[in-house]
Amino acid sequence: MRVLLISANRTEVNMRTMPLGLACVAQAAGREGHEVKILDLVQEKDVPGSIASAIADLDPEVIGISIRNIDDQEMRNTRFLFEADNAVVSMVRKLSKAPIVLGGAGYSIYPRAILAASEADIGIEGEGEAVFNVVLERLRNNETLEGLPGVHVKGGGLVAEKVLIRAPDAFPLPDPDLLFTAPCDAGDLWIPVQTRRGCPMRCSYCSTGLIEGTIIRKRSPKSVVEWIAKLKRRGADRLYFTDNTFNLPPSYAMALCRAMACASLKVRWRCILYPYRLDESLVGAMAEVGCSEASIGFESANERVLKEMNKRFRRKDVAETCSLLKRNGIRQMVFLLLGGPCETIESVRESLAFADSLEPEFMRVTIGIRIYPGTALAEQARKEGVIAPDDDLLLPRFYIAPGLDGDEVRELAAIYMAKRPH
Ligand code: SF4
Repeated sequence: MRVLLISANRTEVNMRTMPLGLACVAQAAGREGHEVKILDLVQEKDVPGSIASAIADLDPEVIGISIRNIDDQEMRNTRFLFEADNAVVSMVRKLSKAPIVLGGAGYSIYPRAILAASEADIGIEGEGEAVFNVVLERLRNNETLEGLPGVHVKGGGLVAEKVLIRAPDAFPLPDPDLLFTAPCDAGDLWIPVQTRRGCPMRCSYCSTGLIEGTIIRKRSPKSVVEWIAKLKRRGADRLYFTDNTFNLPPSYAMALCRAMACASLKVRWRCILYPYRLDESLVGAMAEVGCSEASIGFESANERVLKEMNKRFRRKDVAETCSLLKRNGIRQMVFLLLGGPCETIESVRESLAFADSLEPEFMRVTIGIRIYPGTALAEQARKEGVIAPDDDLLLPRFYIAPGLDGDEVRELAAIYMAKRPH
């Protein structure tokens, strides 16, 4: 079948994003013999025009649209990004009668609400590589979508519970050409690499478990290294590992670093670390194979707030992690998430002072926590009357601890940040 896949995301937070998930789906569909084209709207100046020409050129029989970010997670002046994505769905609907299939991380958090709010016909909740091909097959044969895991049908609801792919290697990482769809110079970009899916840490506010599950599913280090080598041949030598926690499990992280060392890949890369039980040998191995920066979302330095967020680490673990990184020449990007359960103005001060003591190269402070469905925070917010029992949370809602004055926290953070340009 002729398949057009559109990445509707137009937002670049911190850095340029690339539609890795959509490229994985395109790769899987291509292997089944479908003719697949990707349209990445991220830098498109003329969105209606580019959609119209993509549809005119391919005359697609099915159109997939990925929905990434629902909003920007900022409590003040929130940008509700889904509106622009939904406008893309409507444009496509006007130009083509082909079935529209939604997917992507944002869609997977709100599969029912988004399908109902849009003019799409079908939605795929969770990973698309396997089930999208079956959807294509059924559509080609005019069959129903009955029994397909994670598939939602307009007016028919969820047809069967989603099933996560157990062994990601069954679906190879995409050909780099599928990733570099928008005009760019590969050497100027940080290229996303995903080696694992799922996170078992269950932080109280986080939507990852809902999207990727709570069991870590890994690609073989060999397949990852082969893919990085392909990217290098394409001119890319700066990567970021999108894995939620690069150091978990530690044995896998070490195996990956060893495989990268054996392949003598000369790349620079960033990753995200969970600041718990990180040891010198792993950090040393990471630095040796090009790790130049690590992000650490420790979010708070107050033990009670950490516990409420269901963080398994304590502030001493964060301090140890940061000094390990410093010793090994890896820059730190740290994140604070202020205003959660049990937060007080004193605990905010404590976190800001602690962040200073780490001497990070970069720091980001967020005030107010976006409430996602299916999380412990959503449950608590419901009990406290912060959100209505039937709120589907598609429209952004934020949590600020009862009794905490959000404006006071913002003022404190503004004074703090004004003196710290990093
Ligand atoms: S460690 Fe990160 S990805 Fe995992 S649950 Fe916590 S915030 Fe989410």
